[in-house]
Amino acid sequence: MLEKIKGLGPKTLKILNNYNLNSISDLVNYYPYKYNIIVRSKELIDGEIITIDGILENNANVFYFKKYKDRMTFRLNIGSKILNVAIFNRGYLKSKLLTGTSVYIIGKYDRKKETVTATDIYFGKLPSYPIIEPVYHAIHGISNKQLKTFISEALTLYHESSLLPKEIIDKYHFFEYRKVLQEIHNPHNEKDLQEAINYIKYEELFLFTLKINYLKQVKDKMPGLKREVDYPKVETFINKLPFTLTPDQYNCVKDIYDDLINPSRMNRLVQGDVGSGKTIVSFIALYINYLGGYQGTLMAPTEILAQQHYQNMLSLFKDTDIKVSILTRKTTAKEKKQIVADLEKGNIDIVIGTHALLSSDIKFSNLGLVITDEQHRFGVNQRSILKNKGLMPDILYMSATPIPRTYALTLYGDMDVSNIKTMPSGRKPVITYVKQNKDIKDVLEAMLLELKKGHQIYVVVPMILEQADSDYTSVNEMYENMHKAFGKYYQLGLLHGKMKNQEKEDVMQKFKNNEIQILVSTTVIEVGVDVSNATMIVIFNSERFGLSTLHQLRGRVGRNDLDSYCYLISDMETKRLRILENTYDGYKISEEDFKLRGSGDLFGLRQSGDMIFKMADIKMDFHLLKQAKEDSFSYLHNPNYQNDYLQNFIKQYQQLD
Ligand code: ADP
Ligand code: MG
Repeated sequence: MLEKIKGLGPKTLKILNNYNLNSISDLVNYYPYKYNIIVRSKELIDGEIITIDGILENNANVFYFKKYKDRMTFRLNIGSKILNVAIFNRGYLKSKLLTGTSVYIIGKYDRKKETVTATDIYFGKLPSYPIIEPVYHAIHGISNKQLKTFISEALTLYHESSLLPKEIIDKYHFFEYRKVLQEIHNPHNEKDLQEAINYIKYEELFLFTLKINYLKQVKDKMPGLKREVDYPKVETFINKLPFTLTPDQYNCVKDIYDDLINPSRMNRLVQGDVGSGKTIVSFIALYINYLGGYQGTLMAPTEILAQQHYQNMLSLFKDTDIKVSILTRKTTAKEKKQIVADLEKGNIDIVIGTHALLSSDIKFSNLGLVITDEQHRFGVNQRSILKNKGLMPDILYMSATPIPRTYALTLYGDMDVSNIKTMPSGRKPVITYVKQNKDIKDVLEAMLLELKKGHQIYVVVPMILEQADSDYTSVNEMYENMHKAFGKYYQLGLLHGKMKNQEKEDVMQKFKNNEIQILVSTTVIEVGVDVSNATMIVIFNSERFGLSTLHQLRGRVGRNDLDSYCYLISDMETKRLRILENTYDGYKISEEDFKLRGSGDLFGLRQSGDMIFKMADIKMDFHLLKQAKEDSFSYLHNPNYQNDYLQNFIKQYQQLD
């Protein structure tokens, strides 16, 4: 599909595919994350960001000072004077920046040195009117300008119509869909751009809430499974556990038990902080479901997590007749064939697995309960496919990112929510320090101390999305630095989102086996892996993360009775970060986050690149969310709207659901 775009060769195609851009529609829906509004500065003010054009006095020089980093300099004649310009990580433009070239730059002006440290550079002269320049999340190997050209080309080949119903478009006098996309990628003026952004946000929120409202309507009508379960048996099982359930865990179990014995369909979310003990609750749910006579399944987002659950479950159920299996990409064809046959015959009671469970050849004899761990990691569609394998199975989701109640009600309107708010007793809080880069020596010493005790360490570096982030250390660079410091005596591993799944799992497995002592990674480690020998986490540029994400990250350590430590390294926003030095309650932290930063980071999704909404932000656009929810509700329930649009929507959703 993408081959149709002019000037897009096989190499570029491959890069785009790596970023999950596989079709014309993917490109068209790759929205800018911000817009630069470019107007010539009337005067040059010391210390301020200025925009100015001029002509190069010399060919640009590039200095490559570290792997993946360069600094380019040239002199720029702006008529009244000559400025020294420096810009980071644009070395690839060197051959085009020759004496006499016209460019305009945006950057910080220093009067004393007559320099500009530029963040952006564009070819040509500045026009007299403001230019609005879309800025896309960086794709390594493709410039913002190239990307813009490809997207413009894709737009001419794109003929889809709006996903909003006509009545809604009329109600809000929205632009025609083509015009929306044009404005998003090639904005003409701020007013039209704002309207286009508003359209995209509304569309995302309307479709989302229509789905939620529809699911709720269906759920309210749909009969679920009824089970006869002997509660004393559940009690006995709970009493035999190696620990006592916390009161919140116990209440969760009660909620689930009530749902499962009642004939209406369960659709419940268990929210609880990292380490609060959601897993055991899900196992008890599977046990209750088993006693009721049904098969159950638990889906985890990674192989290693599925393995972890499987091992735990085997030991938990070892005195029972329950037959547990695991199905992942690693399962051999022969084993899989056996499992498929056994599931269909009802010889397996519980199957644990990854996405592999979604494969269409897997059928159950009587699936009664579907559980997804780390719920936010799965797309709605993936979850629905699994759900569809049972006649009307009950559904349980587990999520480690608690969200404040008002938002939860709007976002998860179709689900019931149980909370685990307290931690199991005896857990020591992770001792947390905020440190500046200049104190890095102390941090390295603390690391060495832990390593000498035989413990393991996570080192986390944020994933860099924007271009020209000269101040930020990349994960590769951090790996090299850490290797210099510790490589002689300790093994290091590197983990980042661009690696293949298999490679990631291998590294994670090695860390689990203590074959690696220091794991340098982006936030991919966030998902619930339990390495209890890891006692320290060091997070660089931590101002880049939401507090909830940081809190989740530090939840990777402190998993036993050893003292454990979290170092937050940052030269900025230390006041915000200090909240974590003495707050350990995930709910409080998420409230703070919400107050301070909006929702994107709260979900920890901005880093994973898997945002629920590309443009809308549930905090900033909360009024729009409420409006969209009202509209979609009336759309579902008002007989005037019982039209093709709705029928098609429902049909499409039923196929998935
Ligand atoms: P999460 O909620 O992040 O998925 P887990 O379910 O992995 O957390 O639990 C973290 C650890 O706490 C596990 O090792 C588990 O065995 C232990 N745990 C769970 N519940 C209790 C409890 N009530 N008392 C003591 N330890 C518990
Ligand atoms: Mg978990």
